[in-house]
Amino acid sequence: MAVHTDSHVETPEIHSTPNFLRDMIAEDVRLKRYGNAVVQTRFPPEPNGYLHIGHAKAICLDFGLADEFGGKTNLRFDDTNPEKEEQEYVDSIQNDVRWLGFDWERLCYASDYFGQLYEWAIQLLRAGKAYVDDLSADEIRQHRGTLTEPGRDSPYRNRAVEENLDLFTRMKAGEFPDGSRVLRAKIDMASPNINMRDPIMYRILHAEHHRTGNEWCIYPMYDYAHGQSDSIENVTHSMCTLEFADHRPLYRWFIEQLGIFPSQQIEFDRLNLTYTLLSKRKLLQLVQEGRVNGWDDPRMPTLSGFRRRGFTPEGIRSFVTSLGATRTNGIIDFEMLEHLQRDDLNKRATRGMAVLRPLKLVIDNFPEGQTEYVEVANNPEDPAAGTRQVPFSRELYIEREDFREVPPPKYYRLSPGKEVRLRNAYFVTAHSLVKDAVGSVVEVHCTYDPASRGGNSPDGRKVKSTMHWVSAAHTISAEVRLYDKLFSNPNPLHVPEGGSFLDNLNPNSLEVVSHAKLELSLAEAKVGAPYQFERVGYFCLDPDSTAEKLVFNRTLALKDTWARIEKKAGA
Ligand code: ATP
Ligand code: MG
Repeated sequence: MAVHTDSHVETPEIHSTPNFLRDMIAEDVRLKRYGNAVVQTRFPPEPNGYLHIGHAKAICLDFGLADEFGGKTNLRFDDTNPEKEEQEYVDSIQNDVRWLGFDWERLCYASDYFGQLYEWAIQLLRAGKAYVDDLSADEIRQHRGTLTEPGRDSPYRNRAVEENLDLFTRMKAGEFPDGSRVLRAKIDMASPNINMRDPIMYRILHAEHHRTGNEWCIYPMYDYAHGQSDSIENVTHSMCTLEFADHRPLYRWFIEQLGIFPSQQIEFDRLNLTYTLLSKRKLLQLVQEGRVNGWDDPRMPTLSGFRRRGFTPEGIRSFVTSLGATRTNGIIDFEMLEHLQRDDLNKRATRGMAVLRPLKLVIDNFPEGQTEYVEVANNPEDPAAGTRQVPFSRELYIEREDFREVPPPKYYRLSPGKEVRLRNAYFVTAHSLVKDAVGSVVEVHCTYDPASRGGNSPDGRKVKSTMHWVSAAHTISAEVRLYDKLFSNPNPLHVPEGGSFLDNLNPNSLEVVSHAKLELSLAEAKVGAPYQFERVGYFCLDPDSTAEKLVFNRTLALKDTWARIEKKAGA
């Protein structure tokens, strides 16, 4: 079982969603296409950035499907671009895959196979299936042709095998400068598929690699490295996103020419989400330009960002699993992700009361100096979470927006003369105000009905509003970071001519509330655990917190726009 079981709530995987990959694997297993070999998959990130939620989809498919068929999954770093790759990314990727709940059979690196790949290149050279080309990158592009015109042969295409072998060995030995020569597969310059027009297999790059150091100065291209790495690992089903569909004939060609393990590439739809960009290059730009506070900024669609924001791995898995897999790219509503997160958070979040923008409420007829305790469920969805005693006293804080001196129509919360329920406590009726020199309300005075203890109506009289509160003498202060969408346009790439996706950044994606008042029990909050501030939203403790200063992040507000969209659609 690849899914960790250390979390206390089990999320059932959703098997009813159409997933053609599952059907294909099932068919291969039934027909014994790979004999009795186990289903073997791999998740192959390039360590050039942090994983994002699109990768979570690939991870759940690679690990999840192998697991369903009793198979195995490797984590393989596709590390063939030394200039862009770093150990920091290698570490974060492993951490994120584990956090999502998966563990790999083997940890592999394409760079582990550089020696084997080189030998296979020699084999292709000997067979006359590859050649060293001296054309420049520009010239190669000019010779490649277009979608409507065939390409032209390079003048170096018909070099003798011995000359090719000599030049390639010298490329490896470091005799030539970057960009001066490449190794190309000799396939078909007139192929309708441009990927088959003598694709480049190796380029010269005198660059230090994060693992192999300066051992190599020639590096294999993705198309040559990927399929062969799959084959070395006996990968049966190499799942990748649809943009690689045109590369499949090349993937097959190399494997057939070399006569090695017949891994097969299968493409599925890439995850796109509204209000989000899932491109490592663009996410890197946001980080490098300081538009966000690092890869794990809670507004980032990275797994580390979602984790810091308070999203749960179970909620993310249930979202990506619910998408299944198809062969058509689409765009998924961000609200759907939020909806499934709320479902999961609702099940496991510990409840607490917190007032973000406090307004003092004084109960004139409550005895001074007295504290009562009300017993409250820690999580009404989970009786095992137990109860706690919440202090109640004469001076409380309520949310500033829960009081209006002059209530607009349909405003049912507190206003002079109006009676409301304080959650789990008493009915109170406001009767007077204290204002400061500039006329802002600083204190509301009210009376309570002792017979309404527990928030129950003593005589069947109804109140239209229930409000949260904290006892003024029993609070801790905290900074609360209210996050909203990073982009204000559902398609961040949609910009007027000459514009940039950066123009679509939401200027209000972060609001900091400095002096929220929290129920004392929240002083025990732990990083990584979900909380619900009642009536306000889901929150989590940020790792920036210190003993002196707690910092909470809003994971999600309570209101569920997706549920509304669904309701509208159904209506
Ligand atoms: P990016 O364009 O963000 O750099 P990538 O595809 O180059 O992404 P890789 O590290 O090469 O990133 O991806 C590892 C695996 O994750 C690949 O199999 C890739 O197809 C898959 N993957 C990447 N992005 C998505 C996505 N948005 N939805 C589903 N799978 C994805
Ligand atoms: Mg890639």
